Amino acid sequence: MNKIENYLEGVKTVGITGHRRPDGDCIGSCLGLYNYLTKNYPELSVSLYLESIADKFVFLKNSDKIIFNTEKDEEFDLFIVLDSSDLERIGETVKYFDKAKKTLCIDHHISNNNFAMENVVDAKLSSASELLYMMLDEDKVDKYVAEALYLGIVHDSGVFKYSNTSYNTMAIAGKLMEKGIDFTSIIDDTFYTKTYVQNQILGRALLESVVFYDGKCIFSVVKKDEFDFYNITSADLDGVVEQLRITKGVEVAIFMYETEPMEYKISLRSKSEVDVSKVAEYFGGGGHIRAAGVMMHGTVYDVINNLSEQISLQLG
Ligand code: 5GP
Ligand code: MN
Repeated sequence: MNKIENYLEGVKTVGITGHRRPDGDCIGSCLGLYNYLTKNYPELSVSLYLESIADKFVFLKNSDKIIFNTEKDEEFDLFIVLDSSDLERIGETVKYFDKAKKTLCIDHHISNNNFAMENVVDAKLSSASELLYMMLDEDKVDKYVAEALYLGIVHDSGVFKYSNTSYNTMAIAGKLMEKGIDFTSIIDDTFYTKTYVQNQILGRALLESVVFYDGKCIFSVVKKDEFDFYNITSADLDGVVEQLRITKGVEVAIFMYETEPMEYKISLRSKSEVDVSKVAEYFGGGGHIRAAGVMMHGTVYDVINNLSEQISLQLG
């Protein structure tokens, strides 16, 4: 197994990043690695770069050390990218990647294109957090590393229920529980708890959802003016696509929100038949077989038309 230690030889400075609009697995794996390296290798200088993170993740140790801008120029001995399938996904931190002496990608996306000098990629795993745990020395994993990795696994496995959940996932989760983490609160407070406006926007998205292809597909959209009306950010839309997906009879759920006029972030989910990573990749995005995403341009009508054409090829 590729242990993280093997990549640290001769390294004094380490930069870490994840993907844009970081989710639970991205934040969990990045902070898990940051906490592991700073605790066990105090001689290293470690910097973690991410875009802004939701308040519910702030309890994780050293979340206050995350650098939310890329103003400073740095040349790292080693730059590590977690949970990202391609370089476009890491946003502005690509400037550190380009200048780094060594680069390492740790990822679990089937669409990963091996963009780093060294790539540890396993698309069978539930999460980047699960993969990262396998690269660590178990004895050096403390409660704070465990909290971050457990959170990452919980989020990307949908609380241990998606098809990416395996014996290995559960065994690692068990080991992380043994480190004394508050596993109940991690699940309740970061996965299930919704604020009042999050529930309102979820309700609205469900109310206005539309089914097609005999109920096998469902979609819903949140427009820019609704963001302003409810005073929400994209992080408040976590979980909407999952609620659409569990609609009885649905195979593919599409959730989209407007990021700029005529520009939409698309989330795709499927139950058992359709490989949505293929659909996302067709339009320049990526992800996993049952969960994928892409940015698309045009009217809602255009976007749904284009997506449904690709989905229908797989619906048989
Ligand atoms: P979500 O719908 O939750 O944003 O993303 C689902 C999965 O698809 C995640 O694993 C995420 O990394 C991937 N994904 C989402 N959006 C994009 C995108 O624009 N490009 C690529 N390559 N992957 C994406
Ligand atoms: Mn992930």
